[in-house]
Amino acid sequence: MNLLQNKVCIVTGGGRGIGKATAKKFITEGGIVIIADYDETSGSSTANELGENCTFVKMDVSNSESVRSLIDQVKNEHGRIDVIVNNAGILQDMTLEKMDEDQFDKVIHVNLRGVFLCTKYAAEVMREQGSGVILNASSVVARYGNYGQTNYVAAKAGLEGMTKVWSRELGKFGIRVNAVAPGFIKTDMIAGMPEKIIKMMGDKVPLKRWGEPEDVANLYCFLASDEASYISGAVLPVDGGVVV
Ligand code: NAP
Repeated sequence: MNLLQNKVCIVTGGGRGIGKATAKKFITEGGIVIIADYDETSGSSTANELGENCTFVKMDVSNSESVRSLIDQVKNEHGRIDVIVNNAGILQDMTLEKMDEDQFDKVIHVNLRGVFLCTKYAAEVMREQGSGVILNASSVVARYGNYGQTNYVAAKAGLEGMTKVWSRELGKFGIRVNAVAPGFIKTDMIAGMPEKIIKMMGDKVPLKRWGEPEDVANLYCFLASDEASYISGAVLPVDGGVVV
């Protein structure tokens, strides 16, 4: 039996990276996947690649109208929303001294407010149907901080807090809310990093390698499925043991 048979799943930022691997895994497990992404090129090409059970909606998680329109569209076309993976995220790294206010706001807007908006409107549908799963993309840096990531760490730590609040507020409606905290995962987010740094970071991991997007996708899939039916309010690492 497939883990996500006929479950209607939204994956934000699903055009590439971890989101794409997650969309692919969900499809393999029988899910019906809606890739909600800002980037039309990667979003539509991924949806085409993944076949008839995968569609693409161009949207911006940080824009309330765009989020509401996505949720309405999915509700109208599929009648329900079983899972939302709040995966879309951006980086704009800079030390505190150099980070300007716009850079702070932009990352908070997408990585924190975006998760708030998507959850707020998806949860309305889930509450009505009496079930649902909300999965949020955190990061190991929420726990240990990271040089040059004031905005990103603030967003991820905030997201972990929201995960806990929502698990308390939404549990009585049959909605589970969890976060996943990946470590160093090989995606476009690391493009442009010097080889030397990439190797040094891999060596720091007890399992002695970078994670693959599929490592994270597998955890999202488990958490989205009924196999995780008694797990809520958790932040689960996928980091090769880098933060213990
Ligand atoms: P990625 O390869 O950069 O992909 C992110 C996707 O989200 C892109 O398709 C991007 O579109 C889209 N996106 C950005 N802003 C958006 C918006 N406002 N509305 C809708 N879609 C938007 O990222 P990733 O490395 O797979 O990371 C996915 C998530 O995991 C992120 O939340 C990230 O913070 C988290 N994470 C990643 C790592 C890692 O090592 N890679 C580690 C810890 C946590 P554009 O191309 O148009 O920007």
